[in-house]
Amino acid sequence: MINIVLFGPPGSGKGTQAKILAEKYGFQHVSTGDLLRSEVGNETPLGLEAKTYMDKGDLVPDVVVIGMIGNLLDDKAGKVKGFIFDGFPRTVAQAEALDKLLTEKSYQINKVMSLHVDDDELVRRLVERGKVSGRSDDNEEAIRNRLVVYGDNTAPVADYYADQLKLSDVVGVGSIDDINAVLCEHVNGVVGS
Ligand code: ADP
Repeated sequence: MINIVLFGPPGSGKGTQAKILAEKYGFQHVSTGDLLRSEVGNETPLGLEAKTYMDKGDLVPDVVVIGMIGNLLDDKAGKVKGFIFDGFPRTVAQAEALDKLLTEKSYQINKVMSLHVDDDELVRRLVERGKVSGRSDDNEEAIRNRLVVYGDNTAPVADYYADQLKLSDVVGVGSIDDINAVLCEHVNGVVGS
């Protein structure tokens, strides 16, 4: 099983690219944002708790998100060709927990690709998306907070993977196809095709 992390700030295109890669390589796309929004939509106890953090653009507590990923791995690890993680891990504690969960099952993270887009462009994209997404966190105040939270809590995750020599930086500005082609080169490097 090949495990890929698609890393980057909100609005950097992780979701778009993860979807294309998942389809191309037959990997399972795992978006913690989507999983959490589904819990919110179903008004589960987990969803009701998560919503209070998400609406402000704050991170949902590690224990909640790690628990969700643990359940998913128990369910799916070894049964799919690979995972492409999108929006997870978002803290160093989550990265450490993910390594532990995978190691327990004799798997590992094979590659981390980090999408780079400057803040002005990110805000522009997210404000645009907010006009159609209906997402309660795509308003300017929550967007600004998400970028601050990214800098404070999530950016250090890149160093965590750089130390493991797994990190590749990718320019996230350009056409979806061109960016995807660069990502595929990196994935091919670990898939071996
Ligand atoms: P974006 O990357 O555009 O912010 P996501 O769908 O990835 O969108 O995440 C939306 C929200 O869901 C985040 O702001 C956060 O509140 C919550 N969330 C998603 N993934 C995580 C995670 N790994 N840890 C904590 N909170 C998360």
